[in-house]
Amino acid sequence: LGPTVTVGEILVEIVATKIGVGFREPVELLGPFPSGAPAIFVDQCGRIGGSAALIGAVGSDDFGFVNIERLKRDGVDVSAIAVSPDYPTGSAFVRYRTDGSRDFVYNIGTSAAARFSWTEKVEALVTRSGHLHVMGSALSMPSAWTVIEKAAQVIKARGGTLSLDPNLRKELKYDDQTEARFAQLVAMSNLLLPSGDELERAAGVEGEAASIARLFELGVGEIVLKRGRDGASCFLRDGTRVDAAAFDVKEIDPTGAGDCFGGAYIACRRLGMPVEQALLYGCAAGARNVTVRGPMEGAGTRAELDDFIRTTKRLT
Ligand code: ADP
Repeated sequence: LGPTVTVGEILVEIVATKIGVGFREPVELLGPFPSGAPAIFVDQCGRIGGSAALIGAVGSDDFGFVNIERLKRDGVDVSAIAVSPDYPTGSAFVRYRTDGSRDFVYNIGTSAAARFSWTEKVEALVTRSGHLHVMGSALSMPSAWTVIEKAAQVIKARGGTLSLDPNLRKELKYDDQTEARFAQLVAMSNLLLPSGDELERAAGVEGEAASIARLFELGVGEIVLKRGRDGASCFLRDGTRVDAAAFDVKEIDPTGAGDCFGGAYIACRRLGMPVEQALLYGCAAGARNVTVRGPMEGAGTRAELDDFIRTTKRLT
């Protein structure tokens, strides 16, 4: 039915190289790395061999260049990425706390990342796409909603499917319509990929089992719970549950794990693989990516992930 398309922020990421330091005094930084949750997702999707495309915008500057070049290299269709002559590419500065959590300083709202619209190129892409993947982080950009809503309608009308990774980051600004839009997307989703408290947030009820039951009632067909070093579980509406153990790796940089997991999982499912195999590649993609500094630097090709799977122990 056509490529997997996603919509949203394209950024460069600049990371602190030491754990536990803030940005209130000079720190050593590394970057720019191509980034933005939708960009990471789609890059992993392309790398593993899935047909993938991204709708978004960059500035006509070096930060935009590194993103477009990376995505093109990895087989992603960049025809619907606008290059703004007026606004710079968005950016994110990341620092790591000693407890493993991260703080982001985002420059999205004032950048090209938040300024894109439904253009002829977007229309041409969407009318030949078979799957829309939405990152909740994109809901922080009012312009994204128009594109997401229209793309969802067009793709569903041609028999395509929709997936949602809630990914509602605390640092992003969401307006008073975000909850309603989020709920609308949940109800339209065939596949949901939550982590942490996002499952309950999407379902609007408490408890794992009750949340899953509620989401099936709403029409979701497949729920994949991401659990970091505890691996991942897939719940299907027919009652099937499949668990996958995580791989035993040393985490250098957790950014992008969930996005790479999702990119690999969805590419594999759309290539016709069963849940077990898609979970295996998803866990491998997430784990491989955390071993390398930079949000998508560890995204793997099919051959790289096969090699990783062969040579890396699973956690039980
Ligand atoms: P998110 O980034 O969306 O919160 P997770 O942190 O659960 O998602 O990561 C997604 C997947 O990547 C996990 O299910 C797991 O398979 C893998 N993963 C993430 N972090 C690690 C880690 N430290 N060690 C091994 N695997 C990991």
